[in-house]
Formats: sequence, C-alpha cells, structure tokens
Amino acid sequence: MASEKQFKSIKGTKDLLPEEAARMRSAGATIHNVMNCWGYGEIRTPVFEQTELFARSVGEESDIVSKQMYTFSDQSGTSLTLKPELTAPVMRAYIEHDMGRGGASTKLYYLDTLFRQERPQKGRLRQFHQFGAEAIGSPHSEQDAEIVALVYTILTELGIEDMTLHINSIGSDDSRNAFRQALVEFLAPYKKDLSETSQRRLETNPLRILDSKSEDEQELLQGAPAILDYLDDEDLAHYEDVKHFLERMNIPYTENKMMVRGLDYYTRTTFEITSPHVGAQDALCGGGRYDNLIEDLGGKRTPAVGFAAGIERILLALGEKTQSTDESKNLLYVAATTHEAREQALTVAMILRAQGNTVHFDALRRSLKAQLRDANRLNASHCIIIGEDEMKSKSAQVKSLSSGEQESVPIDSLAALFMPQQ
Ligand code: AMP
Repeated sequence: MASEKQFKSIKGTKDLLPEEAARMRSAGATIHNVMNCWGYGEIRTPVFEQTELFARSVGEESDIVSKQMYTFSDQSGTSLTLKPELTAPVMRAYIEHDMGRGGASTKLYYLDTLFRQERPQKGRLRQFHQFGAEAIGSPHSEQDAEIVALVYTILTELGIEDMTLHINSIGSDDSRNAFRQALVEFLAPYKKDLSETSQRRLETNPLRILDSKSEDEQELLQGAPAILDYLDDEDLAHYEDVKHFLERMNIPYTENKMMVRGLDYYTRTTFEITSPHVGAQDALCGGGRYDNLIEDLGGKRTPAVGFAAGIERILLALGEKTQSTDESKNLLYVAATTHEAREQALTVAMILRAQGNTVHFDALRRSLKAQLRDANRLNASHCIIIGEDEMKSKSAQVKSLSSGEQESVPIDSLAALFMPQQ
C-alpha cells in the first residue's frame, strides 16, 4: 500500500537537479583550473571534526560557534561538529601532517560542503558550498595581495562583473589591544543603549560590535575611534603595501574601516567582496590574515592568509549569465526500432560516447516518432536511426534535427562522422 507520507528535504538544504548541478560543476572546473595555475594544491578534510577545534579557533563568541554549529555526540561520547568553515580543519591538517617542514610556504585550496544552522533566506542555506585558499608561511604584504588577487581572478573568470572589494586592517596584537581599549572607553557611557548581545560583547569581544546590524548602534559607532588610527608603523606599512600591490595588479578596492569580520582569528588584513545582485546577504567572499591561529591550535607560530567564497551566492549573482560550459560538442540521440537494432544502437552509443560525445538512448521501446520527439526535446543535433533495413545494410540513417536532412551512413563510418572538435 502506498504510504501517505511525502518526504521533503530539510529546511535550508537544497537538491541540485541536473541543470543546476551542471552550473555548479562548471564553476568548480573553473575554480580547480585557476587554483592550479596559481600553484595552489587541493586539500580535502573530513566532514566532521572535534567540536573543540572550532570553539578554539573561530571563537566562542562568534555567531558560528555560539549558535550555528551542527554538533552531536558519537557513540563514545566525543562531541563532533559538521564543518561550518574550512580554515580550522585545514590548519589542523597542516599541523598534523607537518606540512610546513622545510620552511617553504604551503599553498592549499578547497572546494567543499559546509553546514551552518542559520535562518534560511535568499543566499543563506544550512548546507552550502565554499571554495577557498590558504597561503601558509609568509608574513609579507605581497602574500595578502596575491590571495586577494586570486579570488578576484576566479570571480572574474566565473563571470562576476560588478563586485566591490572592501579592505581594512585590524592590526597586529598590540595595535588591536590599544584600539580595543579605546573602543570600550568610547562605548562604556552608552552601554545601556546597546543590545543585549553588544553589551555582552563589550566584555568579551568588543570589536565584534562594529559588525552590528542595528541601525541605532551603527549611528552611535559613527563617532567611534577608527582602528586605522591605532595601527603601529609596521601594521600601517603592511597595509599600505597591500593596497599598493593591488593597485599594481589593477584590482580596484574600497577601504572600509568598520569591517572587522565575524571570526576571532584575524590579524592585520581583512577583506570582503560584495555583489549588488544577491539581496541582503551580499558577501560573496571573506578573508584575511591570521598570524596567531596555527600557534593557537598547537602548531609552531606560522603566519597565514586566506579567503572563503560561497558558491551558491556566486551563482545567484551570475543569474542568467551562468551556463554550464562542460557540454560536449555533439549531443546525439540513437533511436532503434527492433530488438536487434537496439543491440546495435547500444554498441554504437558506447563507441560515440567513448569519443566524448553525449549520446542519449531510449530504453522505453517507444515508436520511432516518439523517439524523434524525445530527441528534439533533449536538443540533440542529430538522431541516428537504426531499423530493420539498416540492420541488413549495416548502416544507419543520420537525421539532422535542425535541417531535417537525412542520409544513410555505414555503421563503421559513424565514429569518424561524430569526432568531437578539440
Ligand atoms: P564566512 O566563512 O562566514 O566568512 O563566509 C564566506 C562566504 O561563504 C560568504 O561570503 C558567503 O558567500 C558564503 N556563505 C556563508 N554562509 C553561508 C550560508 N549560510 N549559505 C550560503 N553561503 C554562505
């Protein structure tokens, strides 16, 4: 008896049907290709990690750790979390495999699936995809600039046109401590006007108040001290150099002194790329330098800089412009009308597919007319028809579905006729 219950996908998750999956795959191919050209090697980490890894790196006070993680206990009672971001797992792997041995810099990238229990909305899912890169080992400004240029190049190659790159520096520890103190002193008299979250952050992580979405708080913050005024000479020189390198690479940017970003581990450079085409959730990419993280996770002190970009949001920004570019040149349909002809058709389809063509085959034993209709629906360029007569003459009728013209072709010549262009 058929069950009444209809299963639905979980809120905030999404099925990628073939067309959308093809767009995703095509974006992935571009990402792998550019990463390769820039000398970054792919890393794949497990779907879950010890919960503490994220708590220690991303920060207890961050939105991710305080409310968005999918956390569960396994049978031994260990607390595990589905990865909500990739920098911490990649750094865990970097330390675990001693990837920094020898002293050269290590350049890694990923394209992965992430999980965050956020309120779903346009451009915000509970399971989504990110790609990102981490350049580990260099403290220098050219590395920050290269990372920014890398994501800018990928977004451009994917077809994103009007994006805005926001950059800022939140300084190294000393500058940031001085700024933190000034910010607390500035906000203290207004404490009662702040939201509950901001009041708590005033104690735990006052910089995060700068990220506040509340209009009243943003108005109040207009008069707040600016972090750039607290940078020491070295921080300032680093920041100026990053901007200079970006200019030399023709990468336009705007300075955004309010941008501190939501994660705890950033030092010096922070950046974000936004698009006007994706609604309220307008960030396509975020990143920055994190010189303390590897040491905080138990490794040797090693500077690093990286970014992460959301693929669903990029596809949203591209809208109609995205096309899957991985279609092979010939889209063919093999139609057969008898049992023997079907045997022949299966073999012909295999030979043509082995050359890189896309070949559809009808397994419903429908009439020739129905198969031709199907070939048209699928946008095939040609239908290769095999019937009783063709079996006798070891040939096939090749029908062009655009012109309607049809010719008889020996079976042995089909492969040469449909050789995909390089
Ligand atoms: P973050 O790791 O929060 O800095 O995010 C980096 C990028 O990932 C963002 O700029 C978005 O493009 C994307 N992203 C973050 N959270 C989500 C989400 N819940 N759904 C879809 N994309 C997301």
